[in-house]
Amino acid sequence: MAKTKKTKSPTKTKLRQKADSVFSTFVRLRDSNKQWIVTCPLCWSKLPRKKAQNMHFIKRSCWFYRYDEMNCHAWCYRCNVILSWNYIAYTRWMQREYGIDFIDHMIDESKKLHKEWSKEDYQKIIDTYTEKIIEYSKKLTV
Ligand SMILES: [Zn+2]
Repeated sequence: MAKTKKTKSPTKTKLRQKADSVFSTFVRLRDSNKQWIVTCPLCWSKLPRKKAQNMHFIKRSCWFYRYDEMNCHAWCYRCNVILSWNYIAYTRWMQREYGIDFIDHMIDESKKLHKEWSKEDYQKIIDTYTEKIIEYSKKLTV
């Protein structure tokens, strides 16, 4: 078999880490105001975008929702870590935000077995969200 012209392609793990990082930056930017401040929707505390955390409603171990914009929101460290993801409040917030039927659907979907993303998929996520980060950065720059 002929070798492809690419010399060193990044490993899947590296691509996944990069995709996680780019997507997390995107979510925190999306949920920032023009002063780059995030208000935690669960406890209302205000924090600089860089200190906010990207929380997943359906945990990251579910590949299907790992990079889903509706599944991810910027919250504070206290809600995410100390209150271990403030799950009851988060669930109620999700239900109000997206409707109870949709949240039930997400939960059902998360119970299915999903395949991990391919290297190409990760690259697509990186490209898409890098572009979105640039767009959002422009909007937020005052
Ligand atoms: Zn909070």
